[in-house]
Amino acid sequence: MPENIVIIGAGQAGAQAVQSLRAEGFAGPITLVGDEAYPPYQRPPLSKAYLLGTFERPRLFLKADAYYAESRCELLLDTSAKAIHRADRTVELTDGRKLAYDKLLLATGARVRKLRCPGADLPGIHYLKTIADVDGLQAANSTSLSASHNRCNPICSTIANHCRSNTRDSNLPVQALRIRNPLKDEALLVYSTLEISLPLSS
Ligand SMILES: Cc1cc2nc3c(=O)[nH]c(=O)nc-3n(C[C@H](O)[C@H](O)[C@H](O)COP(=O)(O)OP(=O)(O)OC[C@H]3O[C@@H](n4cnc5c(N)ncnc54)[C@H](O)[C@@H]3O)c2cc1C
Repeated sequence: MPENIVIIGAGQAGAQAVQSLRAEGFAGPITLVGDEAYPPYQRPPLSKAYLLGTFERPRLFLKADAYYAESRCELLLDTSAKAIHRADRTVELTDGRKLAYDKLLLATGARVRKLRCPGADLPGIHYLKTIADVDGLQAANSTSLSASHNRCNPICSTIANHCRSNTRDSNLPVQALRIRNPLKDEALLVYSTLEISLPLSS
C-alpha cells in the first residue's frame, strides 16, 4: 500500500509540491486542501495588472483544471484544516471530515496581518491577498485602496506605481503610515499603509 500525502494549503507552494512529488516518482495518493474557492494561483498580478483589470482571471491559475485529476491529486477547495491529530495521523476539516495521512505537508503560507489601530474596522478599508479581496475591491467600486504589509514593502509601491501609471495622475495621494514597533526602542516601519484615491473600476 503506497503512502499517502496530505498537503494543507493550496497556494503556489502546495501546487509545486504536487508537481515535484509526481516528477520525483511519488505514486501514492495526494490530497491538496485549500480554504479558498480557487485552485492554486499566482498572487503577484493581484497587486498589478489583475487589480487594474488588464489581466484575465484564467491566466492567474498555475495549472489547467484537468491537471489535478491527471496528477491523481484530490483537490479539496473551500475547505479548511481545523486540527491535526498526530496520534492517529489525521487532519480534521471544518466540514467535519477527517483525512488520514502518512505524510503531512504544511504549505499554509502567510496570513494578512490586519491593522490594529483606531479606525481599522471602518468601512472602505481593504486588504489584498486573494482573488476574493480584489473582487471585493472592484465590487465596492472603491474610491480608496489600502494595502498593508509587514515592513515597508514593494507591494505597496507597486500598487501606487500601477495606479499612477493607469490613471496618469502623478499627483495621486499616497500616504505611508509609520507605526512604532512596540518590541523595539527605535521607531521601525512595521506597516506601511497606502491610501490611494482612485476610481478602480472606471
Ligand atoms: C498581492 C500580492 C502580490 C505579490 N507580489 C509578488 C511579487 O511581485 N513577487 C514575488 O516574488 N512575490 C510576490 N508576492 C508573494 C508571493 O505571492 C507569495 O510569496 C506566495 O504566494 C507564497 O505562496 P505560498 O503557497 O507559500 O503561500 P500562500 O500564497 O499564502 O498560500 C497558502 C494557502 O494556504 C491556505 N491556507 C492557510 N491555512 C489553511 C488551512 N488551515 N486550511 C486550508 N488552507 C489553508 C491559504 O488560504 C492560501 O490559499 C505577492 C503576494 C501578494 C499577496
